[in-house]
Amino acid sequence: MTNLMPAIFFGHGNPMNALLKNAYTEAWRNIGTQMPRPKAILAISAHWYLPATLVTAESAPRTIHDFGGFPPELHRVEYPAPGSPELAKRVQALLAPVAVELDESWGLDHGTWSVLCHVFPQADIPVVQLSIDETQPPDFHYEMGKRLAPLRDEGVLILGSGNLVHNLHTYAWGSHRVEPFDWAVRFEEQARTLLLDGNHAPLIAYEALGRDAMLSVPTPEHYLPLLYVIAARREGEQISFPVEGVDGGSVSMLTIQIG
Ligand code: ZN
Repeated sequence: MTNLMPAIFFGHGNPMNALLKNAYTEAWRNIGTQMPRPKAILAISAHWYLPATLVTAESAPRTIHDFGGFPPELHRVEYPAPGSPELAKRVQALLAPVAVELDESWGLDHGTWSVLCHVFPQADIPVVQLSIDETQPPDFHYEMGKRLAPLRDEGVLILGSGNLVHNLHTYAWGSHRVEPFDWAVRFEEQARTLLLDGNHAPLIAYEALGRDAMLSVPTPEHYLPLLYVIAARREGEQISFPVEGVDGGSVSMLTIQIG
């Protein structure tokens, strides 16, 4: 019997999505109801980016409100999912010989909970977060994703949370609609074509893709979670984009689902 869990990259966008009901959050909700229920979730969030690889090992990770300038309601959101010390140890074993520290101080940051509060609103599935080592090049992160891929056979959902296009210098804060920048549209289109072709090498070496990539990925942290997800794809496996859209002109909300 095969019970392969999908692997999925969410464009999380504005933290306010946690409180809102919009086309993105409705689509996230649908994703949660349509996939088999995971035994646990391994989340790789853009917002845990530091010079080491750590994995959360608490049995009750705290909800971290890692942002400023948002209304008090957002600071009151709690996502009380349990942790999974067992999964943390399994991740540590799979990633060896890379040194992975069991961490008791981080918890779930908004990259994880602002999406999960819609996808799995009951907060009853154990969640473990893996940090992104900022000192490592993109191919390291792709390789990490390959080593984690067997978790999909063990009922674990590998979840990346970032944004394929994430340029806050050009982002239009506020509720008015703005057209996406042409470079954002082009880069997203190029990435989609490469993803559908299973052509991962240019996505790993994205810095060589030119000006559109530089504007779309001015810093790596929101892009790198994608590499963990696509590395978990099996040969010939289906890839789909269940959520689409560009928010504020320069933040792609594209969701990329493997399987
Ligand atoms: Zn973010």
